[in-house]
Amino acid sequence: MSEELVIGGKSIRPRSRITVELPVPQLYTHTPMTMPVHVVRGRADGPRLFVCAAIHGDELNGVEIIRRLLKRPTLKRLRGTLLAVPIVNVFGVIHNSRYLPDRRDLNRAFPGSERGSLAARLAHLFMREIVGRCTHGIDLHTGAIHRANLPQVRARLDDEPTAALARAFGVPVLLNSDLRDGSLREAAAERGIPMLLYEAGEALRFDEFSIRVGVQGVLSVMRALEMLPPRRRGKQRVREPFVARSSSWIRAPQSGILRAVTPLGARVKKGEILGVVSDPFGESESEVQAHASGVVIGRVQMPLVHAGEALFHVARFESARQVVSEVEALQTHHEEAIAAAPEPPLV
Ligand SMILES: [Zn+2]
Repeated sequence: MSEELVIGGKSIRPRSRITVELPVPQLYTHTPMTMPVHVVRGRADGPRLFVCAAIHGDELNGVEIIRRLLKRPTLKRLRGTLLAVPIVNVFGVIHNSRYLPDRRDLNRAFPGSERGSLAARLAHLFMREIVGRCTHGIDLHTGAIHRANLPQVRARLDDEPTAALARAFGVPVLLNSDLRDGSLREAAAERGIPMLLYEAGEALRFDEFSIRVGVQGVLSVMRALEMLPPRRRGKQRVREPFVARSSSWIRAPQSGILRAVTPLGARVKKGEILGVVSDPFGESESEVQAHASGVVIGRVQMPLVHAGEALFHVARFESARQVVSEVEALQTHHEEAIAAAPEPPLV
């Protein structure tokens, strides 16, 4: 006998695939709104994994990661259940905004409440219908607006089941991040559900590399959970990742126009010049210096900056050299895979 699985009042049978529309408050235009959830249930019981995106409504790479994930023929061999929620913050997405219409951050509203703010209500619904039915979770994010992140996984690495999933994801850079008050990750952790947060690319943009790494990461985690059969031999790419010892942002020394010369994934040495901020005439110039050696895992994309603005996110590692060579190997791997892929890459 299989376990009963009910989502949004719908009973989901083994070996079925359906989209469930979870009702959320309607728009003020009288337009009905839902949070759509695609459920893939395998023949046999097993882990129940949710994969969600756009909790921040302007973070779109994860939406495409989920679309590609759901097209994978290997899902026919699924053990357990996959709950895919490509657009959690439906209100943010229709406004191209990170936030809800009242400027609240959904990822600070968990676990939420039935009668709280709009954010609290969405969080409560997500906890009840998705997290409450699952054993594991992956939350897909990007950098903030005008900021890009090197693919990285953030998780509670002091929790061994969570750390094992983080390693399985297969990105070179892991960050052991503390739980923030009100995040989905914190609320899931309180229910004993191991969860990863994948961060890659920039808000409101698609980035092929970030998307590809994300799809592979989710599939690798599903293989590690034995939800999918192991990969054919020889194609295995997951290697031991590197955990950042710490990370910090290098900020603009003055307001002005930034001429950045350091890409994502670059290895930097303490004192190295990462860019220059100047006024439009080039009369007053300040160098942006690395205050520690490490790897650039995030950076600003727009050249217009105010004094104090976060420009380069530098993470420190035991061996920055090894991290950079792993990142380069991952890039080469995906460039080769893109050349052989049936769908053209997004540019
Ligand atoms: Zn985010």
